[in-house]
Amino acid sequence: YLAYFDSLTNLPNRRLLMDRLGQALIASHRTQEFGFVMILDLDNFKVLNDTQGHDVGDRLLIEVAQRLLGNIRQEDTVSRLGGDEYVMMAENLGTDQISAANQAEMIAEKIRHALNQPYAISHTGQAHHSTSSIGVALFCGQALSVDDLLKQADVALYQAKGAGRNAIRFFNPEMQAAIDARSAMEVALRNALKQDEFQLFYQPQIDQDGRLTGAEALLRWLPANQAPVSPAQFIPLAEDTGLIIPMGLWVMQTACAQLKAWAESTQTRDLQIAINVSARQFRQPDFVEQVRASLEHFGANPALLKLELTESAVLENVEEVIGRMREIKALGVVFSLDDFGTGFSSLSYLKRLPLDQVKIDQSFVRDVNSDPNDAAIVRAIIAMSQSLGMQVIAEGVETEAQLGFLKDSGCTNFQGYLFGKPMPIVEWN
Ligand code: C2E
Ligand code: CA
Ligand code: CA
Repeated sequence: YLAYFDSLTNLPNRRLLMDRLGQALIASHRTQEFGFVMILDLDNFKVLNDTQGHDVGDRLLIEVAQRLLGNIRQEDTVSRLGGDEYVMMAENLGTDQISAANQAEMIAEKIRHALNQPYAISHTGQAHHSTSSIGVALFCGQALSVDDLLKQADVALYQAKGAGRNAIRFFNPEMQAAIDARSAMEVALRNALKQDEFQLFYQPQIDQDGRLTGAEALLRWLPANQAPVSPAQFIPLAEDTGLIIPMGLWVMQTACAQLKAWAESTQTRDLQIAINVSARQFRQPDFVEQVRASLEHFGANPALLKLELTESAVLENVEEVIGRMREIKALGVVFSLDDFGTGFSSLSYLKRLPLDQVKIDQSFVRDVNSDPNDAAIVRAIIAMSQSLGMQVIAEGVETEAQLGFLKDSGCTNFQGYLFGKPMPIVEWN
């Protein structure tokens, strides 16, 4: 036991860490998934040790170990190298480098925050405050040895110390730049709701006779004095940070208010509004209540509200999802399955979901006149949806030729630049 564990904190020691890290590199070579190594060092530990004595120092080290264990997944490793230096290691962060870096950053931030909380360790009963610096290196495969990897994390730690301590740094400068840009965007995004920088644009949806049936509401972020930011850039970040919850609620409320405004005129009273609902938003325990309350508050007709869910949102916990969809359908709201064909598209669950509409993804529509595979997929989606009693809408329709093919194949509803781009509501009236 003593050979592999640190007797003060009971954490794995350097030897066991090196061993596990070696195993992790082999596994990563096989799966091509990223992992991280983090070296953490307490700022000013020496001062505490020298002024309050070693027993107080030891108590801090033990408490830090506990907090580290509490902020990392069970399958990850926390070890103490000696002194006030700890190393964390995690595997299976997926095959995308930026996403792995973002996960590492979030964990490091959580740890930094946890270690910044006061410690009840001193003889005087006075709370002790401590901060920490963290260096992060990602790995994938066996390109680097265990030693080199730890050296990279150590270089990053050195930079964190140099940046004034209480900081997190990545070894790779490009990665650091990506993390910095993301943090800046996160701060801006947090303020965006308060400062009213979001707007809903509406893109027309039409039926086979060319009649307007409604619109898809698409979110736009228009920061003051800056170029508009595409939802493709900020929705993933909003998902990761949980900001999607208040944002999604704002979208739903704005759409409900618009439905109510449209209800006042005979020309617009039958128009539907489709909103995009993120997986994370849909899984909120009070999501059904949010839908109900929004409809009621604005006095919107539920039958005119359409929720677009993606396959990835419905695939996890299918049973739970079906239950929740039924509850929402009981309110009178309708469902569309967005981006259909890009995910797993399992027929067995598709037929069990209470869907009203399937939306053919624009990636198939784009080359439908030139790529026989896309044409075949589109025809199959239409045939399948029809036999399941679901309406089919094609998105991304840009040309008459695409429209012609889709109509000939039995598609009844359309959306795309051919009919109109997403536009602010003032341009609708
Ligand atoms: P999506 O739901 O698949 O939306 C369709 C995207 O295709 C929109 O991009 C739309 O502007 C664009 N589009 C529409 N017609 C055409 C066309 O004819 N040709 C081409 N090339 N593109 C067309 P947008 O508005 O940038 O939105 C991107 C994605 O962001 C959306 O994809 C959706 O997944 C997400 N998103 C947008 N608004 C919201 C929102 O309020 N909540 C959530 N959770 N996600 C949203
Ligand atoms: Ca959509
Ligand atoms: Ca789509």
